Amino acid sequence: MKIEGYRLKQVQKLLYKDLIDDWDKATVLPLAMREKLKENFPLKIDYQLFEDGNAKKAVINLKDNSKIETVLMEHNSKRATVCVSCQVGCPLGCSFCATGRSFKRNLEVDEILQQVLLFSRYYRKPTNIVFMGMGEPFLNYDNVMKAIKILNDPNCFNIGARKISISTAGIIEGIKKFTNENNQVNLSISLHAPNDELRRKLMPVSNSYTIKELLKVVDDYISKTKRKVMFEYLLIKDVNDSIEHAKQLSQLMRKPLYMVNLIPYNSTGKFKRSLNVKRFKEYLEKHGIFTNQRYEFGHKIDAACGQLANRI
Ligand code: SF4
Repeated sequence: MKIEGYRLKQVQKLLYKDLIDDWDKATVLPLAMREKLKENFPLKIDYQLFEDGNAKKAVINLKDNSKIETVLMEHNSKRATVCVSCQVGCPLGCSFCATGRSFKRNLEVDEILQQVLLFSRYYRKPTNIVFMGMGEPFLNYDNVMKAIKILNDPNCFNIGARKISISTAGIIEGIKKFTNENNQVNLSISLHAPNDELRRKLMPVSNSYTIKELLKVVDDYISKTKRKVMFEYLLIKDVNDSIEHAKQLSQLMRKPLYMVNLIPYNSTGKFKRSLNVKRFKEYLEKHGIFTNQRYEFGHKIDAACGQLANRI
């Protein structure tokens, strides 16, 4: 079913601005069209909600019975972020990550958008979006970019590109493509280790390139876009949280427009939470690295970083 022209604009407004959840409410459309839409684009979202303070996690049951998770984080009255999934599971298998234990398939564009729609319709309209849920966004590149266009479109969700962030484990081809997108979407790199040997142990994806090669494409991105890049670093007890690791990391990160985001690890069984976060952060700051520590949401509902899919 193809919808074009002014009808497309009407349908987009109904879906993303009026947030209808039943085509019968779309009375501006002719009855025959509503009937077709009912058949082709069902609006019902099958989900279960778990809450923990200012975090809400939804487990969505997709049409093929796959389950994905998405989280709404309410920072304050002005800011709410949805953490979006882009795959069912993840094929990259990082050793510290609950999501990476299995992989089924990429999400379709409507399955990505459904996560934002759900919170917008029934809880709260988000101001920010992060592609940091289940899956690697650059392995589902085209669908993620199509979803971002709709999130950003003033006639649809109207979320500013600067309020949207993509986090990649470092898919080099994806970063190169993204460099040429010419949009204002933020880029984050999941680094998690300051040397190749350790990174290969934690993140099998890094068997195919070195940190040096990864940082080269990031530098190309920065020189073309003049935009900051956030490097995510999960602190795991006795794995990557020593002062020697902080020293190695500070040597890598001493560049303009590089920023480090420290994330205290949430135990998923094999690894433990670091007790060294404060010292690690202080070391980086003392050595001139712009360092942030991520505010944590949703421990009790397994909605914190690296915990999605724990219960599936
Ligand atoms: S950390 Fe990210 S890239 Fe690694 S397995 Fe988990 S979801 Fe995939």
